[in-house]
Amino acid sequence: DVQSNRSGDTPAPLGRVDAVVVGAGFAGLYMLYRLRRLGLSVRVYEAGGGVGGTWYWNRYPGARCDITSMDYSYSFSPELQQEWTWTERYATQPEILRYLEHVADRFELRAHIQLRTRVTAAAFDEAADRWVIRTDDGASVSAGFLIMATGCLSAAKVPDIEGLEAFGGERYHTSHWPHGGVDFTGKRVGVIGTGSSGVQVIPAIAEQAARLFVFQRTPCFSVPARNAPLEAAHESWMKANYAEHRQRARETRAGVIMDVDPRSALEVPPEERERAYQARWEQGGTGFLATFSDVMRSREANETAAEFVRSRIRATVRDPAVAEALSPRGYPLGTRRLCVDTGYYETFNRENVTLVDVKASPIEEITKTGLRTRSAEYTLDSLVFATGFDAMTGALTRIELRGRGGEPLAARWADGPRTYLGVAVAGFPNLFTITGPGSPSVFSNAIVSIEQHVEWIADCIAYLRERGFACIEATAEAEEGWVAHANEVAGGTLYPLASSWYVGANIPGKPRVLMPYAGGVGAYRKRCEAVAAQGYEGFSLS
Ligand code: FAD
Repeated sequence: DVQSNRSGDTPAPLGRVDAVVVGAGFAGLYMLYRLRRLGLSVRVYEAGGGVGGTWYWNRYPGARCDITSMDYSYSFSPELQQEWTWTERYATQPEILRYLEHVADRFELRAHIQLRTRVTAAAFDEAADRWVIRTDDGASVSAGFLIMATGCLSAAKVPDIEGLEAFGGERYHTSHWPHGGVDFTGKRVGVIGTGSSGVQVIPAIAEQAARLFVFQRTPCFSVPARNAPLEAAHESWMKANYAEHRQRARETRAGVIMDVDPRSALEVPPEERERAYQARWEQGGTGFLATFSDVMRSREANETAAEFVRSRIRATVRDPAVAEALSPRGYPLGTRRLCVDTGYYETFNRENVTLVDVKASPIEEITKTGLRTRSAEYTLDSLVFATGFDAMTGALTRIELRGRGGEPLAARWADGPRTYLGVAVAGFPNLFTITGPGSPSVFSNAIVSIEQHVEWIADCIAYLRERGFACIEATAEAEEGWVAHANEVAGGTLYPLASSWYVGANIPGKPRVLMPYAGGVGAYRKRCEAVAAQGYEGFSLS
């Protein structure tokens, strides 16, 4: 009985709102703002104790964005983007969190947000064309629309290692970091995981801990951030040209202006190619991928970029054996999320840092006092999991979402997520997923993709209300067509060549499907606009 509270005795009243939004990160906050502007009654549920999403949870030392802050921010309010000042090229987590708190206050969003409340289930009531949403405080609410702003990288994942519970020291996950911070002074610390979070947290912990052991299974490709204070001249230029700059970004592949060299990496002489990679390396950031037009398209071209990064690792890390162990091989650069670092490779020159190759000698057990690999035992005071997320689908399938006929979303997606445009699912009327699987999402500057989805969804809801429709649902044919198209686009890229979280490979048993749409945000936006312009082609409205 969805109306019963958790203890099952007194029935909680069933509230009614026009829309429920789940999550209060960049996506949920902006969705709330747009729906309020349309005059809807909205309730936002957020599991965390504050707004900010990713930037509320990921408080580990070294946490920053890896897209420049002037791009990694909202564009919807010209006043906000003119008045806010970022202090660094890549803002730290506390600064991004302050920004999102400012947004919540500035646009008077907080009154509509219920914190510390997790949505546990939602079922579509076919007779009423409404969703009934259940939360972990035992309450239920009925909503005309249900919008999932639950985040692509919010369902943290801890590997299932034997003995985990036996560990007598402190355990942390980068995305559930204690609010008061952690003091590693004098401690022997182990970090498991060398993806984007690991690459950020490792140099920071190394500066504090007595000893740091980095347990690496798959080496990552990382490019230097070249972070620095934001230059006043750059800021004023951006602010003078913001509208045009943002518009250009929306039309690119990744939602950031990258200045792609149109040539093939293979058509330029080796010395010139090297100079080009070196110049991008000096600039810092993910623009490295744009050094040549085919870096992400041709395996051979990609290998020239990969080998350049390996040469930088060899030039940076003094011990040749460690440099080799840090050098990624066997998958193309960029097909696992390209890391952006501050002093990552340099960290392995420190006396107090040891790289442990757990591909060569796998972790066998976590013990009361530390960790044992096949070949050695490590005594540890603290263990840090930088092991990432059940990406893209995890936050959705952890909720018991039931569509028409009571069908659970998790069952529907057993062979991989299937959506129409990454924003809707056949059989799940009036449900929208912001940056859902099948949309560019994590292949892009997330804020560009979030704003595009939020605006599209708000426009869609306005359209339905103006015309008196109560229900919108993706047709099975449209979903089928989009899945086929997304798979075809994926097949033309290098992404399927890597065992990455993009394809679900980090979660045992998760089907191998490239989840983000690889066709680029510019082309994707046009497609979404065309769908809307055709009266929501591929959807049935009633
Ligand atoms: P989130 O910020 O993840 O917010 C989702 C919220 O939903 C969470 O607060 C969660 O608690 C809540 N929630 C989930 N399920 C439930 C439920 N059942 N009930 C109630 N609440 C729920 N992207 C970039 O483009 N550039 C970057 O530089 C970048 N850096 C990143 C760095 C880190 C450390 C991480 C983890 C991610 C980074 N990302 C980056 C991706 C980042 O997640 C997005 O940029 C963006 O913050 C996503 O916003 P969101 O609102 O969609 O999701």
